[in-house]
Amino acid sequence: MIMPMTKRHGETGDYCLPGNIAIYNGRISGVGNISEDGDFDRIIDASGCVALPGFVNTHTHAAMTLFRSYADDLPLMEWLNTKIWPIEAILTGPDIYWGTMLCILEMIKSGTTVFADMYDFMDDVARAVDESGIRAVLSRGMIGVAPNGERALQESVQFIKNWHGKAGERITAMLGPHAPYTCPPEYLKKVMKYAEELEVGIHIHLAETLAEIGEIEKAYGTRPVQLMNNIGLFEYPVLGAHLVHVNTQEIEILAAKKVGVAHNPQSNMKLASGIAPVPEMLKKGIPVALGTDGASSNNNLDMMEEMRSASLLHKVSTMDPTTIPAYQALEMATRNGAEALKMDGDIGQISVGKKADIILIDFHKPHLYPMHDVAAHLVYSAQSADVKTVIVDGRVIMENRQVLTLDEERILYEAEKCAKRLVKAVG
Ligand SMILES: [Zn+2]
Repeated sequence: MIMPMTKRHGETGDYCLPGNIAIYNGRISGVGNISEDGDFDRIIDASGCVALPGFVNTHTHAAMTLFRSYADDLPLMEWLNTKIWPIEAILTGPDIYWGTMLCILEMIKSGTTVFADMYDFMDDVARAVDESGIRAVLSRGMIGVAPNGERALQESVQFIKNWHGKAGERITAMLGPHAPYTCPPEYLKKVMKYAEELEVGIHIHLAETLAEIGEIEKAYGTRPVQLMNNIGLFEYPVLGAHLVHVNTQEIEILAAKKVGVAHNPQSNMKLASGIAPVPEMLKKGIPVALGTDGASSNNNLDMMEEMRSASLLHKVSTMDPTTIPAYQALEMATRNGAEALKMDGDIGQISVGKKADIILIDFHKPHLYPMHDVAAHLVYSAQSADVKTVIVDGRVIMENRQVLTLDEERILYEAEKCAKRLVKAVG
């Protein structure tokens, strides 16, 4: 397969990637000066488009799409205690499947090619990933203090055995202890033992709110990041979500231990969790990536919005317009995401040898004229509906905004049906 990248009508300068992108066996086999006369099985018209590595959404709870707009504008604990946890308690496998399908449909249509998910009924999530053609890093969320804590751990182990490396290697499995305040050190030590045995990483919420910092300090006399370091969690590949409340010393720990950070600016703003010290973390070389979090605290899975929010939030919070310039925001959504997931050997860039996870953005739009700077356009002007074509693992899964692997109308219908039934059941 080859994608000829040509100029936009009337343009004199060539803003697209120069030349063509060739794909063979799921990987990028050539970039640049490749003749279109070669023996290609198909040609994708990429004229007027900009090719990007697909967006990497490093923190989601996919099936929470079912609760989009169900409970908003509430304090975090009230939101969880009175709304989210009661309705999550009655979720079934089919709910998770259709909620995840809705999430995947939305992600594909907005240019995400891989997502890191933590939730329940992960076999159903994996099935949705397998069928849709997207790539995913999946972990079964575990609450160590819950009555089913031990069972959740065993289910995680079984899930990893069943799905790690499956769906044509598009699924990577991880362990998903929810957070330090729901998973005490003794529990986390068991998680670490399995991480070692199964050779998988750990996805965990860390230092999200001031309430968490207070709770951990009270219980253990130290802060969450320090506590995780003390018990040895960072000796394993860790993807930490949020890291909002971290001090200079903790940033040093995260950098030294190469912890991947999933920054979720919109979720942090909506739940009023705080502002993560992202510029400081980036300066220390930490691969700070972007995530949307679940759709009930965002309320969408749009990585373009997340790029813009990250850039704008940190500009205003530092009162410095040079903070997180456009290109850096773009890197956070792609290359840093791959690094945070420890997948940078395979994805996150358009270069020969990498897996072909590529999106084409249609720049023939009023809000993308005139062209002075591609990165600035992508971060400050573009909309997710400008994503025209999505390729994962060398397979075209969306072409001209038509998702080829999924039945869009059926997904909307089934997800709506599940959501209505759940809301009715909790009264
Ligand atoms: Zn989360």
